[in-house]
Amino acid sequence: MIRPLSMLFLAVCLFASGCQSAPGPDNDATDDFNGLAYALVLHGGAGAMSPDQMPEAVQERYKNALDSALQAGLDTLEGGGSSLDAVVRVIMYLEDHPLFNAGKGAVFTSDGKNELDASVMTGHDLNAGAVAGVTDIKNPILAARAVMEQSGHVMLAGRGASLFAEAVGLELVDPAYFFTERRFESLRRIREMEKHGTVGCVALDRAGNLCAGTSTGGISNKRYGRVGDSPIIGAGTYANNRTCGVSATGQGEYFIRWTVAHDISALMEYKEMDVESAAKKVVLEKLVEAGGEGGVVCLDALGRPAMVTNTSGMFRAYGNSEGERMVAIF
Ligand code: ASP
Repeated sequence: MIRPLSMLFLAVCLFASGCQSAPGPDNDATDDFNGLAYALVLHGGAGAMSPDQMPEAVQERYKNALDSALQAGLDTLEGGGSSLDAVVRVIMYLEDHPLFNAGKGAVFTSDGKNELDASVMTGHDLNAGAVAGVTDIKNPILAARAVMEQSGHVMLAGRGASLFAEAVGLELVDPAYFFTERRFESLRRIREMEKHGTVGCVALDRAGNLCAGTSTGGISNKRYGRVGDSPIIGAGTYANNRTCGVSATGQGEYFIRWTVAHDISALMEYKEMDVESAAKKVVLEKLVEAGGEGGVVCLDALGRPAMVTNTSGMFRAYGNSEGERMVAIF
C-alpha cells in the first residue's frame, strides 16, 4: 500500500531542488510496514552541478538514461530475477552508456589511459567480488560478479583480472574502446560541469535479498595505478540483509578512510538507526567534517531508500513494486 503521505513526499522530491531525502514508505514508520516486494535505487555519480549550468537538453539526456536503467532493473525484479541480476543489469546498462564515468565513457588517468574499478556484494551471504585497475574488460561489473562466483577470491587487479575475465569467457576489448575522439569532444563540456559520473545500484528482490554494486573509471587525471573506493567492500559498496545495501560515489580517498558504506550499515546494526538517518549521519556529518565530497544510495532490508549527498547534485533514481518512481539530479 502506498501511503498518501509518502506519495506527497515523492511529489515534493520530484520537483524540489536539492532534496536529499528519499521517497518511499516513511522511514520512521516501524508500526505496520512489512516491506516492499522489491525495490531498486541507483546513482550515476555526484558532484558540484547546478540547473543553471546544465542545459535542459543535457539534463533530459541524463534523466532518460537513468530512467531506462531503472526500468531495466525493475523489469528484472518484477519477473522474479535476483537482486544480483538486477544490479548487474543496471550497471551494465550504465557502463555501456557513454554519458557515465564507467565502462565506455570512463575518465582518463594523467597519462591518458582508462583504468576501471568495480565491485558487487550480496547481502544474504556477505559474498563479494571486485576488480581494480582493469583496462580491457568491456563490462567490469561482469568481471566483479565472476570474481565473486568463480574465483575463490574477493578482488583481482590489473592483468590478473583480465586473464581471469578472459578465462571465464568475458568480452575483452582493445583499451581504445573506452575512448573515441568524437565522443570525448562531444562530452568534454558535460564532464567539465560534472567531474564524476560513477555508477551504482542497490536492489531488493522478491526473495528479500539485498545486493549492491558500483562501477567507475575513477577520478579524472588520477595517477597510474590509483584505486578508489568503488571496488573496496565496505568503502564504496556494501550489502547485508540484516541492515542495508549501499553504493557510494565521490572522492574515493575519503570514502576508503571513513569506510563509508560499512559505517552506514554499522550504525543501523549497532545503534539501530534507520537507513536514512544512518546515511545522513555519515555523509552529511562525518564526511563533511572530514572534507570529503560525495553521496550514497541505499536500501534497507524492507526496500526503503536513502539517497543522500553533500554535493549540489547526484544523478539518481528509485523505483519499487508499489509503482513509486523518481529520477532526479539536483
Ligand atoms: N568514488 C570514485 C573514485 O574515487 C569516483 C566517483 O565516484 O566519482 O574512484
